[in-house]
Amino acid sequence: MIMEIKCNYCNYEWKYKGMREYYAQCPNCRCNVRIYWSEEQLELIREIKKEKERGVGNEQVNNIDEGEV
Ligand SMILES: [Zn+2]
Repeated sequence: MIMEIKCNYCNYEWKYKGMREYYAQCPNCRCNVRIYWSEEQLELIREIKKEKERGVGNEQVNNIDEGEV
């Protein structure tokens, strides 16, 4: 999932590419920034995480980047 995020603390803007539901870490000042996903995006994230937990050997699911940034 990709979301443009602006840090409240240092005003740094970046494209978040990850699967966290609530907070992303600002690459500039390392603070946690709230992510405002839409309901649809949140649903999708939870769905993908569930698939992952079930260990579905789907390449698309396995390749999702769960990095900090
Ligand atoms: Zn920041």
